[in-house]
Order: sequence, then C-alpha cells, then structure tokens
Amino acid sequence: MSDPTPVVIVGAGPVGLALACELARRAVPVRILDKLSVPTAESRAAVVHARTLEAFSRIGVVDEIVAAGQRTTGLQMYADRVSLGKFDLGTVDSPYPFPVTLPQDETERILTARLATLGVTVERERELAGLEQDASGVRAHLKSGEEIRSDWIVGTDGSHSTVRGALGLRLEAPSKERRSCWATSKPTTSWTARRCTRSSRATPAR
Ligand SMILES: Cc1cc2nc3c(=O)[nH]c(=O)nc-3n(C[C@H](O)[C@H](O)[C@H](O)COP(=O)(O)OP(=O)(O)OC[C@H]3O[C@@H](n4cnc5c(N)ncnc54)[C@H](O)[C@@H]3O)c2cc1C
Repeated sequence: MSDPTPVVIVGAGPVGLALACELARRAVPVRILDKLSVPTAESRAAVVHARTLEAFSRIGVVDEIVAAGQRTTGLQMYADRVSLGKFDLGTVDSPYPFPVTLPQDETERILTARLATLGVTVERERELAGLEQDASGVRAHLKSGEEIRSDWIVGTDGSHSTVRGALGLRLEAPSKERRSCWATSKPTTSWTARRCTRSSRATPAR
C-alpha cells in the first residue's frame, strides 16, 4: 500500500473545493473525492457574501466570481404587493462590500478550474462508505471496496454527511419541517417586483 495522503477531503461542493484550493496552494498534498459522476447543475447556495469573497481572494478566484455573478447592493421585500422595506446590502466593512449572486454550480466550476491549476483533480464516483481511525491515521472505506489511508479526513459531504455519521456526531441545527418550492429558470421577461409577487403566489407548495 502506498504512503498515506496527508489530507483526504470527502465532498466536492463549494466548501470542499475551497478547502482543497487553500491546502494545495500551501503545498499540502490533498485528494478530494465525490460520489457524483458529474458536478451539480443546481443553483442552490446562490449568494456569496463578503467574507466568502475575502476567502476567495486568497484562493485567487475572486475576480472571476465577481465577474461571473451579479453584485447585489440591496434587497426589497414584498408581501401581497405591499413593500415590507428596502435593505441596503452595500455597507459591509470589507474590500468586497456586497454579496454576489452566483449559482452554486458556477462557483463550483470556477473553484474546480482553480484547483486544476494547482494540480489537483476531483476524483469522481468515489463514495465514502465508512472510516476507521487510530493513532496512525485514518482509513477511508469507499463503496467500491477501495481503502484510502490518510493522516486527516475532512468531511465536507453536505447535510447528510457520511463522515459526521461515522464519527457518531449529530447535525445540531433547527430542523423545522417546512414546505417550499424551488426552481432554477431563466426569466423571459423583464424582472419586476410585481411579477415576482405574482409568480411566488402562483407557485404550488410541495
Ligand atoms: C435543493 C437545495 C436547494 C438549496 N437552495 C439554497 C439556496 O437557495 N440558498 C442557499 O444559500 N443555500 C441553498 N442550499 C444549501 C446549499 O446547497 C448548501 O448550503 C451548500 O451546498 C453547502 O455546501 P457544501 O460544500 O458544504 O456541501 P454540498 O454542496 O452539499 O456538497 C457536498 C458534496 O459531497 C458529496 N458527497 C456526499 N456524500 C458523500 C460521500 N459519502 N462520499 C463522497 N462524496 C459525498 C456530494 O455529492 C456533494 O457534491 C440548497 C440545498 C439544496 C439541497
């Protein structure tokens, strides 16, 4: 068996990819695994906030992220066509005093490309099934039957994390049942508050 990799990251979402970039640019050998054969095509975490932009600056992707997304300087909320108020989002004390709206799949694409320039490729169709740890390190057991030894394993494998489960940890977060509807679409007409109110009222809840 070959020498252990210092760090194995499980999950190539935005968190895992950003960590892999940070480690790789500091010359820490790292592998990053994901169970999916292709990246997500969903918008999901679509707002990148100022602090994350600062972290992206260190990784060297902030200009591309800002250029690809939409600077969001304010928010206006409505209910039943009545304005609930306007919020100024451009006042944060940061070199990037604005959130950027960018679909998660775009953020992942940019981080994956940056990671490739650092010499690391996401290893796809590699699903973690379980792990064991002792004083010498960690053994990751993949669903395929493969075993990977490492000094550290990092769980960035989302809300149903296999790593967290293997460690016997629970996600401490409010889990109120809620009904919602979620869609990714391209508007075919100009986007107005009135249309927004109409479409949200017309959307059936799950
Ligand atoms: C349907 C949906 C809609 C969402 N909408 C929003 C939104 O509008 N706004 C917002 O801010 N956030 C939204 N989120 C939440 C947002 O997607 C997460 O906060 C964000 O993705 C967290 O990033 P992450 O890198 O921690 O995990 P994820 O993006 O979940 O990435 C985890 C990765 O780990 C991989 N993985 C999981 N298990 C294993 C395993 N055992 N072995 C190997 N790989 C594994 C997965 O394939 C995935 O690629 C949404 C989430 C979902 C599911």
